Amino acid sequence: MRWKITEAQVEPVRQLVRSGCCNCSDGNCLLLDDGEAQTCVQLICSRGIYCRYFRDRVLPAEKELYNEIIKQNKEDH
Ligand code: SF4
Repeated sequence: MRWKITEAQVEPVRQLVRSGCCNCSDGNCLLLDDGEAQTCVQLICSRGIYCRYFRDRVLPAEKELYNEIIKQNKEDH
């Protein structure tokens, strides 16, 4: 399930992708690389958390942002 993010969270999420995801190289995703460079899906998404790796392995390190996103998605249901 995709977690929704607010407009204000888009840039902090993108910054975290660039600084915290070890698969992010110049805006491309090494995990998705199949011989051709593939743009990081999380960098081009502005409505939610689409990358499971990012959600499970990177986002939790940024506790405040992580808790905020979890909380607002629980409230949606
Ligand atoms: S798609 Fe996910 S794993 Fe790949 S670089 Fe982006 S955040 Fe990291």
